[in-house]
Amino acid sequence: MHHPAPWEQPTERLDQPGQGLNREQAFRRILDGHWRYLQNERQQIVLTHEDRQRHSEGQYPFAAILGCADSRVSPEVIFDQGQGDLFVVRVAGNVLGDFEQASLEYAVQNLGVRLVLVMGHEQCGAVKAALGGTAIPGAIGRLIEEIRPAVEQAQGQAGDLLNNAIRRNVCHTVDVLLERSEAVRALVEAGEVRVIGLVYDLTSGDLQFLSTVG
Ligand SMILES: [Zn+2]
Repeated sequence: MHHPAPWEQPTERLDQPGQGLNREQAFRRILDGHWRYLQNERQQIVLTHEDRQRHSEGQYPFAAILGCADSRVSPEVIFDQGQGDLFVVRVAGNVLGDFEQASLEYAVQNLGVRLVLVMGHEQCGAVKAALGGTAIPGAIGRLIEEIRPAVEQAQGQAGDLLNNAIRRNVCHTVDVLLERSEAVRALVEAGEVRVIGLVYDLTSGDLQFLSTVG
């Protein structure tokens, strides 16, 4: 009898908003995927012609992630998810501007996503740059300005300034999202959507959860 290898088994993805997962189920799936990643048991997901055909007809991600553009923090890898599973918004320093906010609102409002992660990471170059204090010209300077409030808050704290600033920056982004986005706030208050702030450790691969709203 032929036993199919893991990558031959069809991956079940429901064609409904958020893949039909509520915030709790979505979080469970994220944790399970991260566990596989840590255990070096990542699924070997093969995209078939049928998968691509299905993807062309619509997208059904179950979680949205605002993360840093850093090449070492790819959410699909860290959470062991396939194409179509995660709605990912990446920008240096995981800051929240208008377009990032709009993207996350689209995920919860239009795609039915019920879990939003804001993920910072150790050794974040954007936060490091914000620690510098000197004015930086142009677009990079404007991005760094978004991180400065977190740096200022971290300056009064005990411990490592960079690590504290990275954490403050994640919490700040979560606060700003809930403050600015009526759409996200309403869904959180309705008990539908959960927003989680976390930090990814580059060395160990571990996650540190900082704040959970909803
Ligand atoms: Zn970074």
